[in-house]
Amino acid sequence: MSQALNKPPTTDELYRGYPKRLAEEAKYSKDRLLSHKTLPDSVPRQRGVRLPPDTSRETFDEAIAALQQELGKDNVVVNDKPLIDGWYLEHPNTHDAFHLVDQEDLVASAVAYPGSTRETQAIVRWANKYGIPLWPISMGRNLGYGGSAPRVPGSVVVDLGMRMNKILSIDAENASCVVEPGVSYFQLYEEIQKRKLPLWIDCPDLGGGSVLGNAIDRGVGYTPMGDHFANHCGMEIVLPTGELLRTGMGALPGKDGKDNPTWQSFQAAYGPYVDGIFSQSNFGIVTQMGMWLMRETGHQSYMFTFPRDEDFPAIVEAMRPLAQNRILGNIPQLRHIVQELNVTGLPKSHWYDKSGPIPRDVIREHSKQLPIGECSWVFYGTQYGDEASINTQLQLIKATFSSIAGTRFYLPKDLPDDHYIHSRAKVCSGVPVLRELDWLNWKPNAAHLFFSPITPTKGVDAQVVHDLNVKLHEKYNFDLFPTLCVAGREMHYITNIIFDRSSNDEKKRANALMRELIASAAAEGYGEYRTHLLYADQVAGTYNWGNGALLKFNETIKDALDPNGIMAPGRNGIWPKKYRGKGWEILGDENEKAVGGGTIAPKSKL
Ligand code: ADP
Repeated sequence: MSQALNKPPTTDELYRGYPKRLAEEAKYSKDRLLSHKTLPDSVPRQRGVRLPPDTSRETFDEAIAALQQELGKDNVVVNDKPLIDGWYLEHPNTHDAFHLVDQEDLVASAVAYPGSTRETQAIVRWANKYGIPLWPISMGRNLGYGGSAPRVPGSVVVDLGMRMNKILSIDAENASCVVEPGVSYFQLYEEIQKRKLPLWIDCPDLGGGSVLGNAIDRGVGYTPMGDHFANHCGMEIVLPTGELLRTGMGALPGKDGKDNPTWQSFQAAYGPYVDGIFSQSNFGIVTQMGMWLMRETGHQSYMFTFPRDEDFPAIVEAMRPLAQNRILGNIPQLRHIVQELNVTGLPKSHWYDKSGPIPRDVIREHSKQLPIGECSWVFYGTQYGDEASINTQLQLIKATFSSIAGTRFYLPKDLPDDHYIHSRAKVCSGVPVLRELDWLNWKPNAAHLFFSPITPTKGVDAQVVHDLNVKLHEKYNFDLFPTLCVAGREMHYITNIIFDRSSNDEKKRANALMRELIASAAAEGYGEYRTHLLYADQVAGTYNWGNGALLKFNETIKDALDPNGIMAPGRNGIWPKKYRGKGWEILGDENEKAVGGGTIAPKSKL
């Protein structure tokens, strides 16, 4: 059936669906996105099932039969069907929907669906027996960083979300919850509403991701509890040998076999704080996680605009003391005016019908027609508390930003109902939405890729990273969409590189742009906080102080915990001994070469 005819699932029908309150938005979003699609839903596979490295078809079939015996036939599915990229709410768990190399390159050989921690342990023991690499995902929606795709083609994707998607507890007094991997922001939010609890969640720009998956990948949201990993409390982990570990206070057994009553109250417990090594790593599969929730409070979103491109360093200087003094209530965003065109959801061709990036003067002309009028930088913030304290905070913020001539201030009520600020106001008060999907209408068959360096919250540093971005986006002919997520001492400077999946030329340019951005930022001393799996080796290689001391340390842990190298080999640039130095690392232009029929598979066998 063509995708266009499918109705996307609601959260009542499928754990990864959308809540009914967003039915209209989901339909509109899907219709609009598919109307820009020129690619077919799928094309016949050229290469057949991609087997795990060094595994014959015979051994693979035997191994799959053994796993099916353990989990049930329906819970282990060989990936031999056509690959469908789908869209956000119907995304694949077999490959990268936003493929930067061939669609058939970063693919799973099979997908396994554990229904419990015990079954997850069984999968891990099975993988050790057959030497088959696993790739655990919770929801697989970190699109822009690789989605569900495994780094080693032919790995078995362990899709935890499908059957492990329960909210295990919500403790309203402690303002915390415990979730399984398949609990989405939508699901957690709806449950809290259903129970009428005075609690907020913190969600990222889109609400369909996994609460647990996003936290261990160190994603961010926008309320005062926007640092997701910093607000987790306690984990349960299946180690690469199949053993089970509980971190934090969970390591101390509760009375009568119950969970420890302080597991979600105190993070570090006793001894080394090990949770960190299970974030952005391949040291285990997280099967449960505690998350802190926020107490409901008053809130007011708002916007400032700044007139000139050159105001950028001054804005950063103004934001720093406001953030350090915790006057800025959340993780605000600073964006360039070009994003105001983009978040309307209209295609680029509506604004500019030539190829190549939209020239600055064209953006300026169009921005005159927008409700906020002509400007260069746009700041989205939210303040929290009672009305009187919000007003005091806003006065201070206005006084600080007024040092930049021509600054304007807007509240949501000043702007039309369909303006993006209303969606930001929801996200910044913990209401998960879909609106951010509108970005993808920019190009036909649009996919995106994030370049995500960290800069100090200082004008000079931010300017260096910004200038690099401007120069290299120009060189590779891409529009530059910078979004800065602002904290007191650092900013996540995120650029969203939007490319057309049907164009090999765009894929090659996007790959080359990423490689050069990473290298040039590192040469200036700036590094990424997260990256697409194709650049993991390059980014890990930039953190090379002390002759690569950090990577060596990670490899030592990896080899100790995962002697057979079965757990997500290559994730975050960490390769187990079995793979290390055998041609798997991507450090040169292999990605560009793999577009249009090439392969990123290893140069040598294991
Ligand atoms: P989301 O859908 O929330 O954006 P994912 O489920 O794709 O996030 O998780 C992001 C990444 O984190 C995955 O690609 C995977 O490498 C890793 N990951 C996700 N869930 C787990 C888990 N439960 N245990 C170990 N690693 C995980």
